[in-house]
Amino acid sequence: MSKKLIAGNWKMNGRRADAQSFAAALLVHVGGKAPPCDMLICPPATLIAALGQAFAGSAVAVGGQDCHGQAKGAHTGDVAATMLADLGCAYVIVGHSERRAAHHETDAEVAAKAKAAAAAGLVPIVCLGESQAQREKGETLDVVGRQLAGSLPDGIDPARCVVAYEPIWAIGSGAIPSTPEIGQVHGHLRAALVSRFGAAGGAAVRLLYGGSAKPSNAAEILRIPSVDGLLVGGASLAADDFWAICQAGA
Ligand code: PEP
Repeated sequence: MSKKLIAGNWKMNGRRADAQSFAAALLVHVGGKAPPCDMLICPPATLIAALGQAFAGSAVAVGGQDCHGQAKGAHTGDVAATMLADLGCAYVIVGHSERRAAHHETDAEVAAKAKAAAAAGLVPIVCLGESQAQREKGETLDVVGRQLAGSLPDGIDPARCVVAYEPIWAIGSGAIPSTPEIGQVHGHLRAALVSRFGAAGGAAVRLLYGGSAKPSNAAEILRIPSVDGLLVGGASLAADDFWAICQAGA
């Protein structure tokens, strides 16, 4: 398996000045050294161009937080995957639980977005995860298995596809599943990927964990088998914290 992928999701945070100071600080850390992991920042759409310019020629990739399932058309306010690719994005997050909840996105819609992303040459980061109520009812593995099956489009190249397990109750809450619990879900997802794509294909999908990851817990989470990286929300907004998490993935 390749290096760990540490992906920052800025959500609806940041202005141009924040992007400039973040990029300057992160680039001081990165210096001319070989990066400890693959690094990705997914800022709001308004900051993609500025961050892309600031990180041009560096090891830090830039991605989108969502894309439409179609390449163009009458979709006011939406952004097409081709537009993200045109800005230099390498990845796009799709199916984040905040979008599944607030925009009622179904697995089929998430699969259409992932398909559009792949067609545009982007690597989709497909998010899934159970709610607190589903966990308490013992439904976690069924829920994530169903989301995985429905949110990955047919024909997707497993080597150019990332899946992020993000328990909804862990996002932004400071609570995270135990190490064995994360291992169990990731093991279940890996087995499902192997059964769908075969041994090599299933192993090629990068499986990220997301939900309250921070410098103090990153190393422990990244040691769990089948955890190929992290999707980081709040802690990705500060360059020093993001860099500390990247170093934990070395
Ligand atoms: C997220 O929303 O993708 C996320 C992981 O958020 P946080 O790290 O803030 O829990």
